[in-house]
Parts: sequence; C-alpha cells; structure tokens
Amino acid sequence: MYDLLIKGGRVVDGTGRARFDADVAVKDGRIAAIGADLPGEALSVVDAAGQVVAPGFIDPHTHFDVQLLWDGAAKPALEHGITSVVPGNCSLSLAPLKAKDRQALVGMFQQIEEMPPAAFTDAFEWTWEDFAGYRAALEKSLAINVAPLVGHSVIRLWVMGAEANQRAAREGEIKAMQDLLRECLEAGAVGLSTSFVDVDEKARPVPSRFADFAELDALAAVLGEFGRMLQIVPEFYDVDLTIARIDQLAELSLKHGIPTTFSPVFDSRFAPRAAPRQLARVEEQFARGARVWPQMQTRPIDISFSLLRPSLFFARLPSWMRTLRQPLAERLKALRDPATVDRLLTDAGPDGGAAIFGTLVARGGDALPAELAGKTVSEIASARGETPAQALLNLSLENGLDVAFIAESRGHEDTGRIGPMLASPHVHIGASDGGAHISSFATYGDTGYLFSEFVRKAGAMTLEEAVKKITSETADIWRLKDRGVLREGFAADIVVFDPDTIARGGELPVFDMPGDGMRYVRGSVGVDTVVVNGAIAWAKGAYTDAKAGEICGLA
Ligand SMILES: [Zn+2]
Repeated sequence: MYDLLIKGGRVVDGTGRARFDADVAVKDGRIAAIGADLPGEALSVVDAAGQVVAPGFIDPHTHFDVQLLWDGAAKPALEHGITSVVPGNCSLSLAPLKAKDRQALVGMFQQIEEMPPAAFTDAFEWTWEDFAGYRAALEKSLAINVAPLVGHSVIRLWVMGAEANQRAAREGEIKAMQDLLRECLEAGAVGLSTSFVDVDEKARPVPSRFADFAELDALAAVLGEFGRMLQIVPEFYDVDLTIARIDQLAELSLKHGIPTTFSPVFDSRFAPRAAPRQLARVEEQFARGARVWPQMQTRPIDISFSLLRPSLFFARLPSWMRTLRQPLAERLKALRDPATVDRLLTDAGPDGGAAIFGTLVARGGDALPAELAGKTVSEIASARGETPAQALLNLSLENGLDVAFIAESRGHEDTGRIGPMLASPHVHIGASDGGAHISSFATYGDTGYLFSEFVRKAGAMTLEEAVKKITSETADIWRLKDRGVLREGFAADIVVFDPDTIARGGELPVFDMPGDGMRYVRGSVGVDTVVVNGAIAWAKGAYTDAKAGEICGLA
C-alpha cells in the first residue's frame, strides 16, 4: 500500500530529459516507484491527467528566517510549487546569536525585510542562542524544507560584540569565528553568507563589511573542510567592483574547493553592458575550474510604496528617507512643516521631481480616490497645477498617507535580453529574496513567471530545461541530498501543474504579518498540488495541515 499515488501525469523528472507519461508512487516520504500504470493501492490518489508532475522547486535566495518561525509554509512560496528554501542570505541569520545581541540583529533584519517590530517580539519565543538550538526551534512546525545559511554578520557579532561593526578582526577573533562556523556547519548549515553592501536600520554598514580578506579567506577554509557554499552580495550597483568580487570568489573557490554564489545580477537598459560583462567573467572563471554562480531573478523590478512606511524607493533620497523613517506622528508633523517640505521639494530636483516621481502610477491604498487609480503622478500633478513632488506629498497627506504608488519595470524587464541569460548553464535562477522587502514588492511567483514568460511566451528554454534549472541544478549547486529529481528513493517533493497556464498571480497587499503588518503577495496560477516529503501541503487552492517539512540533508 502506497501513501500517495499521482496518476496519469506527464513526468518532467528534473534531469532535463524529455517528459514521459507515468504514475508516481510515494511511501514513507520518499518516491517509491515511477512507471506507467503502476499497480497497487494508495491511501490517497491525485489525478494528474493533462498535468506535469515535477520535482518541487527550490528557492536558493530567501529571507524567510523570521517568518518560518510562525509560518512553516513560508506562505505564499509553497503554493507556487516551492518545496525547499534557503534562508540566512546576505550575512544575516537568526543564529548563532547571544541574547544580548538580539536587538542589533532585529534592526538589520527590519531594514531588509521591512517587517514591523511585532514580527520579532510577539510572534515567536526566542529560546536559542546557538545554531543547533535555532534549528531545533525551526524544525518544530515546518511545512516546507529548509537549507539554512549562517550569516557572517552574526558570527562576527557573537565573537566581537559591539566592535563587530567597527573594525577588522584580530587573529584570535578570526580563529574563534572559524570554530563557530565549523560548529554551525556540523549542525546542518548549508554554508556561509556575507554582504559587501547591506546596512542596518540606521544606515550603518552591517558587521560583515568590516572583514578583511584574511578573515574571509579563513572562513572559506572552514567551508572547504565541508565543501559548503559561500554566498555574497557584491557591490552590484558597480560593475567593475562586482567583477573584482567575481575574481575574488573564483580564487576562494579554487583554493578551498568550494562553490560560491553572488546575487543579484540585474539587467538594466541604463547599463546594458553590465550583466553581459559579469556573465562573461563568470564564464572565464568556470573555464578555469572555479565555481562562481551568478544568481538571477526572473521578475522585473517593480517597487510599490506609500508614505505610511519607509521604502527602499527612497534609498537615493536621504532627506526623504530620514523624514519617512520616523514614527507616524513625527512623520506627519514633518510632512506638514514648511521648512521640511521645502527641503524635500528641493532634493526632488530642479524638475520638480518629474524624473523621480513623474512616471509612478497611483495604484490604490484604501484612501485613493477611485478616479486617480492608474494615473501617473505627472498626470495627477498637471491636473492639480503642482509639481510631481508636490502632488505626491499633498495627495498622500490629504488621504492619511494611505495612497500606494508603483514604480514599474525599473530594470530587468527585457525578456528578449534576459531569456538567453537565464538559459545559460552558468546562471543560477534564484534571488527571489522571498520574505524580504515585503512592503515594496511581492517576492513570490518567480517560478510561475519563468514558465509563462520565458518558456511559453519567449521560448527561451524548454519546459524540461526550466524545470531542471529550479530543481536538480539547484540541488546539485547547493549539494542538497536526494532532492531535485523524481527518482526512486529520493525525497517525495513534488509539484503538479498545468504547463499551459502556470504563471504568477497579480500583486496584492495583505495584512497578515504579526501586528497587522502589511506586505505584498502573489498567489499562484496553474499549480494544482504541492507535496513535501510525501505529504500534500497544498492542493486545489488551499493549504493543508501537513507539517512534513524538514531541514535538508546535505550531500
Ligand atoms: Zn538577500
């Protein structure tokens, strides 16, 4: 008797081989058999006629660290067919972390995740300090599989305390960091993450940015003992610096025998040579035997914001950022203060903010007058006889700040250019940033978008190739054991989807974060059933109670 039988589907097994008709049988969380018209009974049967049956998708770049503690499915990632996620990216993880340093980490996490403070104080009990303790807390109620990275910034914080974001480490401290990293890897960490760009909530560089090369090299040597991953965020806004990082990663990869990965690689019409130059350098380094995986997302960059909360949209407008970062009462006072408004308008530029704000589209928010939805800020401004910056401020103030604007297609939107890059054997599809930037855009549905935009519409790759890129290729790069392929004995992580309709749904604001925090999400389209370790976790549009997720075993 099988636990589960998926009948009559078209198997795309994740290896890239052509699809074939077969049933897939599951027993004890593993794939028990694959074949045409499998005999035998099963406790439950999924009819997959007309659908593709594929390995569950793996998302290698997420920040679900905090969310996973109260939502073991990392919603809505799972309903898109994602069955394994890598959290702990970009130098930040929830362990190892001494109790006295929790507040420092919360500040850094809030900066990237844009989560309300209640997400850290009310939603879970912070019981652990070491990595094994975090792992145990996480494992209690997972519906999705997790392959956690350990963050370089928290390793520094543990060893150096308050001086972690002030100076380079001394020899003894580097040694202590090596021992701590080794302990995390022994407890199941999939690798180390570091960042050369991120800042905390006060715009101070995160601790990992104070490491010198000797420290990075020493930590990479420990990764080499286990053959584990080094993930970095390079200075992605500067192509020459990023190329220097690619070379540095290649040296570390060759010297220590480790895989490395960096993210993000964006294609931009404003710097059309940037992504191709990075990918060309990656090719050269692979040819030398180095493993330097560039991570590329499928989704164009859209940023939504309202003046209700701080947004990365204002990252290059410091006076706006400072003003909007204040608590609501102070922020409202500042936005009504003529001297502050004068400075904001001046900083918006001599064109009245036309270049920065003009093409933004008013997209809603509870208070937006209906006739303005879909209009650009320029259109609204000229109707009101104001500059774009004035219109943005005044329209927001008139409506309690609850007016959302969207900056659409700010980069990475040219399918014709991006398709061939995604199809390259040396490009790692990922970088969803799931769980981060939650009030700026929905970091979900990138896999659906891969199929709708790059397989069906552009034909940049076949369905089999696309499945391979987000299943077996990912499992191989990260050395996840027995995942990413539909094969007897492998973990039964399975997604059943309609190849003709799979896509991402529209972006919607929801208020499901602890403390009624807002975030943008997307539902899936065309995904029928998602199975994690043999248990149906999502089917026909609804989550089940299954909690069969686990910390990924490593090869
Ligand atoms: Zn990240």
